[in-house]
Amino acid sequence: MKVAIVGAGIGGLTLALELHDAGLDCELYEAAPRLRPVGVGINVLPHATKILARLGLEEPLAAVAVTTRESAFFNRFGQLIYREPAGRLAGYEHPQFSVHRGDLHAVLASAVTARLGPARLNLDHACTGVTQDEDGATLAFRSTSADRPLPPARADVVIACDGIHSRLRGQLHPGEGPPLYCGVNMWRGTAVHAPFLTGATMTRAGWLATGKMVIYPIRDDIDGHGNQLINWVAEIETPQHADRDWNRQGQLADFIGAFADWHFDWLDVPALITSSAEILEYPMTDQDPLSHWTHGRLTLLGDAAHPMVPRGSNGAGQAILDARALRHALATIADPATALRAYEAERLPATAKVVRANRATPPDAILREVWQRTGDRPFTRIEDVIDPGELRAISDRYKDVAGYSHEALGNL
Ligand SMILES: Cc1cc2nc3c(=O)[nH]c(=O)nc-3n(C[C@H](O)[C@H](O)[C@H](O)COP(=O)(O)OP(=O)(O)OC[C@H]3O[C@@H](n4cnc5c(N)ncnc54)[C@H](O)[C@@H]3O)c2cc1C
Repeated sequence: MKVAIVGAGIGGLTLALELHDAGLDCELYEAAPRLRPVGVGINVLPHATKILARLGLEEPLAAVAVTTRESAFFNRFGQLIYREPAGRLAGYEHPQFSVHRGDLHAVLASAVTARLGPARLNLDHACTGVTQDEDGATLAFRSTSADRPLPPARADVVIACDGIHSRLRGQLHPGEGPPLYCGVNMWRGTAVHAPFLTGATMTRAGWLATGKMVIYPIRDDIDGHGNQLINWVAEIETPQHADRDWNRQGQLADFIGAFADWHFDWLDVPALITSSAEILEYPMTDQDPLSHWTHGRLTLLGDAAHPMVPRGSNGAGQAILDARALRHALATIADPATALRAYEAERLPATAKVVRANRATPPDAILREVWQRTGDRPFTRIEDVIDPGELRAISDRYKDVAGYSHEALGNL
């Protein structure tokens, strides 16, 4: 069986490695003329690291990422609300990594090139559509750099891993409306800074109504003096937002006011933000779960299938879980269309739950609870505001839904 993978992002590259590992033939088609380290920070949680470790990638990832030690939540006065250990320190078999998307992408891409050979990764191939007949599928392409048609390709099945602007999702669901803006705009950046807290803490602080920050290190000792590359995301409720573009430049003046007095004893947040070389802006959007991903020999994977608001560190993780499930279906079911339907039956309902949980009860619901109960004021003792058991329950519920509770990992 020949599998065509459209899109060499996190999901497409992981799928190529899975299929190769299962002895299945596959070829990748990527719109970008060359692979560049784009994006900023991503967290890879223990469900996804389990899959990547099975593919032999734990060591190369550990070499470029920060191995996350804990997840910690603060109010906008810098007071600690809740903290819990992460990865192996939380008893998982595999670590949690906080990593630059470009570094994760580079680890996957170099494994694909080494194992499948560079000829299997066709760059500058933007897929413009897929047609099907009894014997297979035909993919049409345009060169992104030269803006001209390229020769078509044939395959038995086509997997659309073409991200949030998926052309092939549009082909399957032409009537779908625009992405849904959830009312929160984000500004993102990276800065060089000395380690703070444990030196490997994933930090969430404040709340969306007045301004929330997510801050964590993604590269260790980047200058020989022990400084780290720190990833930060500022999130503020506002009706104003631009279109979805991972590379859109943002303006400091549009959001810095919300964090101007965040001078905590564990981190000076405005100093961190203002020392960043570049600021990117991105609206928090998602799309309603689809009724189906599969039409005959074509199916969707990753963000093309289930774009979600980035509030649970699960965008990359769910794409990696999709890849694992699809490998299993294609390796065990001979008929391509039946295999794709089996994959969809497993992953569509599971990811729809994550999309909905990210809207309503992601881990940062911990911050919302405390914000509401304190009326956005400092507290004397967190135990007087909320039982720590309740906070742990919010975190644990999300792990169940997203598939990285200890029980869920046993079945992976
Ligand atoms: C430039 C960029 C920056 C990002 N930055 C962040 C970030 O900072 N933080 C974060 O949490 N997430 C970020 N993401 C999203 C994150 O990578 C995804 O949520 C997650 O990894 C899911 O992976 P995916 O493979 O479904 O999609 P992606 O990793 O987005 O990969 C999709 C791939 O498909 C390619 N493609 C698109 N259309 C076509 C086409 N018609 N034909 C062929 N190829 C096509 C794209 O060029 C891309 O390589 C970014 C994605 C991109 C593309």
